[in-house]
Amino acid sequence: MALSKYVVGNWKMHGTSSDLPEIASIASAAAGSTGVDVALCLPATLIDRAATSMAGFAFGGQDVHQDEKGAHTGCTSAAMLLDAGASLAIVGHSERRSDQCETDEQVRAKAEAGLKAGLGVILCIGESLDVREAGQAVATVQSQLDASLPHGDGAAAGVPGKFAIAYEPIWAIGTGKVASPADIGEMHKALRERLVAAYGDAGNEVRILYGGSVNASNAAEIFAVDDVDGALVGGASLTAEKFVPIVEAAAAR
Ligand code: PEP
Repeated sequence: MALSKYVVGNWKMHGTSSDLPEIASIASAAAGSTGVDVALCLPATLIDRAATSMAGFAFGGQDVHQDEKGAHTGCTSAAMLLDAGASLAIVGHSERRSDQCETDEQVRAKAEAGLKAGLGVILCIGESLDVREAGQAVATVQSQLDASLPHGDGAAAGVPGKFAIAYEPIWAIGTGKVASPADIGEMHKALRERLVAAYGDAGNEVRILYGGSVNASNAAEIFAVDDVDGALVGGASLTAEKFVPIVEAAAAR
């Protein structure tokens, strides 16, 4: 049975209080879309104000530290995100893997910490262009998934709807280049197999999102691909004008 679609905006390092009205437009349009779950992962500085003024809409962080507290200057714990009103967090985004040199092991610890604390978690994985051109994309992303999947207390098994994967080819993020439906389908099928191998039947409940230059023009085609359970959207999530049509394309599936 198809999983309900999940469309998540990643605002990256964009957004100040002047953007709250735009966020409110997105939240109110999303409330009118049935059959699709929608969330915005905002800069940590905005979550509290957004969650306070838009109760009922799902806001998330763009990262979560693996430790509960401690000497980690500039980092945000799961408890802090929850306290601010977040209900989810992205972990392992390729920009953090490259800018902050995050390893699969750290990403796995972050996913486990987030889930254990009660946050939903979206775990990002994806290959570079070199890897894709060398014909190694599926094998590389599968092993990235294996190495960063949460286990133990915070594992996805038994937490339906709390854990999602985002397959984001690095070369497609913010570039306007999109993986072909055939390549997306091949990758998502391969990831589904790994999720079932890791979690048994519960692996079929983990939503697999596609991310990489999703926009209003290509969303319907991407959502039609088997095992595409939604999208992680960067640039096109910054305005209601661009984001709402993507949500509507998901709701139409
Ligand atoms: C992202 O930030 O995860 C992303 C997919 O960005 P964009 O949609 O801009 O490619």
